[in-house]
Parts: sequence; C-alpha cells; structure tokens
Amino acid sequence: MMIFTHVRKVMVMTLVMVVASLGMGESLPRHVVKANEPFAAPKKQVAVVIDDFGNNMNGTTEMLDLAIPLTIAVMPFMPTSKRDAQLAHEKGHEVLVHMPMEPVKGKKSWLGPGAITTDLSDEEIRSRVEAALDDVPFAIGINNHMGSKATADERVMRIVMKVCKERGMMFLDSRTTPKSVIVKLAKEMGVPYAENELFFDDIYTSEHISKQMSKLLKLIEKQDQCIAIGHVGPPGKITASVLKASISTVQKGASFVPVSKLMRGLQ
Ligand SMILES: [Zn+2]
Repeated sequence: MMIFTHVRKVMVMTLVMVVASLGMGESLPRHVVKANEPFAAPKKQVAVVIDDFGNNMNGTTEMLDLAIPLTIAVMPFMPTSKRDAQLAHEKGHEVLVHMPMEPVKGKKSWLGPGAITTDLSDEEIRSRVEAALDDVPFAIGINNHMGSKATADERVMRIVMKVCKERGMMFLDSRTTPKSVIVKLAKEMGVPYAENELFFDDIYTSEHISKQMSKLLKLIEKQDQCIAIGHVGPPGKITASVLKASISTVQKGASFVPVSKLMRGLQ
C-alpha cells in the first residue's frame, strides 16, 4: 500500500510537471531551441572580397554600404587609398592592401604606383611592400592585384611573404594564375593564407555576375567555406546590386564573414 501510494504520488507529480511544461511552451525563452531551427546561425561561411578600392572607383559607396561584413582590398598610393580604408574600417569591414603585381600580359602602367615587378632587386621589392603596408591603414594582410607573372616567381614572392610574416599579416591569393607559388611558400614560411575560388565580375554584365552568384551558391552547397572576389570600377555598381539582392539567399545557407575568419596555416 505504501509502495502504491508512492507510485501514485510520483505519477501525479510527473503529470503536474508535464502539464506545467506544456503550459510554458508558448513562453519558452528563445535560447531554448533545437540546433536546426531557422534562426540558429548557419555553420557555413562565405567571405566576399572587393578589390580595386583607392581611386574613388564606381560602386565604392554602394559596396561600402552593403549590410554584410566585406573585405575591402585597397590599392596603395592612390588618391582615396586612406579614405577608403578608413571608411571600410568605420563600417565594420576588413581591410587588405591590394598589392599591384606584374601580370604576364598587359602594360606596366595599368598596375599603378609602387607595383611589384619581376625585374626589381630584392631590396626594392622589400621596400615597396613595406611602403604599401604603411600606406593603407587598418590592413590585416595583402592580396594581389593582377600578378599572374609576379605571383609565379618564387624569388619575388619569398620576399613579399617574408614581410607578411614579420608583420603578422595574412596573404590572400587572388589566383590570377594556376602557377602561383603563394600557398606553397605560405605553408613553408608559416604565413596565414587563403585562396580566392571565384571572380564575380570578370565580365561586366549583370547576366554574368548573377551566373557567378549562382555558382557561389552551388559551391556553398558542396563545401563549408568559400571565398569570392568582386570589384569596384567598371562592374562595381552592378556587382554591388547583385550582391545586395543575393544577401538573404546566401544567408539561408551560410554566414558572411571577413576573410581572416577563413585563413589557414595558423599554428
Ligand atoms: Zn585588382
């Protein structure tokens, strides 16, 4: 009888607790949610890097005003280099030095001031990289502007990477050539690195840029992290508007993060 009474008491208490918790259902605090609920932060990450800031290029304002964390790559020694880096920082974006580097094809005059070319001495390369890093405030690393020739040159890149290492900076390989030695040297020298996987706007039409955005969405389905590069300049306003229109779609599967969140090679 004692045992029966005890069991009945337990049953009644359990029932009371179940009823109480059911009643609380509507007012459960928001942090008591299952991991797969829609407002749980997506695990996948996308870093969007925008190149060619520093010369008051088309789309500068539109890009900086996007309500997602971007990585803003600023060319050194240009009329608005400092202003663009400052604005990017104020708006919560990350800053890289967009280092002009010699391409296989094209004129040296396209590179802009302070460019790294393969005919320079070791000392001159070092002093140009250091001067560029000093010129762009808030930079946490470098990525290459053009550079299909220079980034494939091990002598040149070893000096650039050494300066990165000394300053605790990362290198984002824009991947303008499959022959780039950046990742190989970064691993060897212990420099944090990342690699571009997709250019949004190598052709300046909204059709092409939208198609590249679809490619990015497919990449996110397959992998956990992705880095893509767009530009201010001729395609700037179009790229900014495609990005703006795609924010909510991307965010269904991934979070936008600054590129430093996706760097590799840190011990
Ligand atoms: Zn560039």
